[in-house]
Amino acid sequence: MSFFIFHRLCLNMNLVKIKADNSKIYARAVVFGLKKEMALLDIYTFPDPILRQQAAAVTVFDQELDETAQSMLETMYVSSGIGLAAIQAGILKKIIVIDLNSGEEEISHREPHVFINPKIVKKSGNTVSEEGCLSVIEFRAEVERAEKITVEFQDVTGNAQKMDAEDMMAICLQHEIDHLNGILFIDHLPLLKQKMVKKRLTKLAKAEA
Ligand SMILES: [Zn+2]
Repeated sequence: MSFFIFHRLCLNMNLVKIKADNSKIYARAVVFGLKKEMALLDIYTFPDPILRQQAAAVTVFDQELDETAQSMLETMYVSSGIGLAAIQAGILKKIIVIDLNSGEEEISHREPHVFINPKIVKKSGNTVSEEGCLSVIEFRAEVERAEKITVEFQDVTGNAQKMDAEDMMAICLQHEIDHLNGILFIDHLPLLKQKMVKKRLTKLAKAEA
């Protein structure tokens, strides 16, 4: 999120619109509990064509990758999101971050996850829930997803990992992994509704430009 499912946790949160010129804004580590001060990233929004690009696999696991992941987490927290894919910040790499406890003010209650090169290897069941996205402003809709998934990925140091996920984590992972393939949650809507929504959002984006 930029995925951001508006579940109970997020109901009272306001979407903080990232200022266009935020390259100079540095969030305070003390607020977000991260290693050091990280630059916030600009979030691209629909219909920007960058969101339709394919992310490339990460092959170098260095300090820069770690810093990118930290900046993504920071940006996600500031934006009140529970997930963010690198492509939403214009970085065409297979990196996603998720924290279902993003709304927790108490830093020790937060649970940041970083997934490098995530791949869904197993899916089962179906579930429908309301989704939103930091790249799709002012719109949410119900989307059907697999209920349980198994994801293989690497951590920031390159170690192979595997996670069985269900409920919100499974939904969030599917939403974010979609981003890495240039897919937005609105692409899952019935065709007619999808056309209407995309038309409206494009008009809105033009008006705001
Ligand atoms: Zn999203």
